[in-house]
Amino acid sequence: METTLDVQVDTVLTSTARDAIDRLYWEMEAEGYRAGAPSEEVEEIDRLVIEGGDQGAVCFKPKSCVKCGGELSYQPYVKERSYRSFTICTRCGRVREF
Ligand SMILES: [Zn+2]
Repeated sequence: METTLDVQVDTVLTSTARDAIDRLYWEMEAEGYRAGAPSEEVEEIDRLVIEGGDQGAVCFKPKSCVKCGGELSYQPYVKERSYRSFTICTRCGRVREF
């Protein structure tokens, strides 16, 4: 299980995006969540949804930021039975829950 922020992010972040990721992390931690998907299967499905690909028929979110076209970073959080996942634009820092 990946637990650090940097492991989730494999693209270069702008400082705005880094701030947005940090803010989300602290907000979620304050609510008792920790970074990570509940299982590798869930993480894999989420990545496919974000990236489109073969799961395009069920893809309801854009692959890139609707605001600036930047690449999206996948940020999953879990708390007991609760699971929330977000995308954060690596360019403008726009956060979306999906
Ligand atoms: Zn953006």
